[in-house]
Amino acid sequence: MTLLLREVVQALDALYPPDTAMSWDRVGLVAGDLDQPVSRIHFAVDPTVEVVQEAIAAGADLLVTHHPLLLRGIHSVATTFAKGAAVTRAVVADLALYCAHTNADVADPGVSDALAAACGLVEVEPLGLDEGRPLGRLGRLDPPVSLRQFASALAAALPATAGGIRVAGDADATVCRVAVLGGAGDDRFADVRRVGADVYVTADLRHHPALEAREEARVSGEGRPFLVDAGHWASESLWLPVAAAALRARLGEAGTTVETWVSTLRTDPWDFTLGAHEAPDDGGAR
Ligand SMILES: [Zn+2]
Repeated sequence: MTLLLREVVQALDALYPPDTAMSWDRVGLVAGDLDQPVSRIHFAVDPTVEVVQEAIAAGADLLVTHHPLLLRGIHSVATTFAKGAAVTRAVVADLALYCAHTNADVADPGVSDALAAACGLVEVEPLGLDEGRPLGRLGRLDPPVSLRQFASALAAALPATAGGIRVAGDADATVCRVAVLGGAGDDRFADVRRVGADVYVTADLRHHPALEAREEARVSGEGRPFLVDAGHWASESLWLPVAAAALRARLGEAGTTVETWVSTLRTDPWDFTLGAHEAPDDGGAR
């Protein structure tokens, strides 16, 4: 039975309702004809030109990405600039493009659930609300471990990047309550403090918000919450296989099958680092 893009979009919209996206966001179908057949679906965090080419080379009919390609207004899709090249190459190759962004962040299971699972959290609940929708997750480590052990395990669970993960806090301190927010999260410290998290795992922690949070932690929280910057791409890429499996299951319920494939390209923009500190010596204790 031929599966049409229309049916795949319906399934994706059911998993990640577009009206649950933040008001500033732009989600849903970006390119494609609802009547075109779909047999292979490619998943990626970012719709870069390279990812579009990877999807085309893999024989995909649809590329599902977390980040929008066209969040802000553009006046051309010519190949003379990157977003235009991505759109044009996709359209010429009959590759449809669909985006599930903040609607995937607030979904259950959503982007932060995949990160919570990678952190090994149990008893997971929402961290806070954004525009009235649950954002981020709070969970517990059972048993509690040292910050070093927690960060080491998380680094091993994340896909490799040039920068790895960055940690602020006492490596030997015991941690139990963990707040997570996939992607950029340095505007959610109030939630993290309110729930009394020992660690906050997110990404894109800028100097001033992160330093101010560390200063607050030293004054009023006995050094907590400790911070883990897990990398924007890495923290969100964990969601891709979960989304692919959810879509296959949903389409399967309707009696249709589809092949899914997760991009192997690392769209984290950094290629190497110099002068980074390793984790402090643990004195032989594990
Ligand atoms: Zn993101």
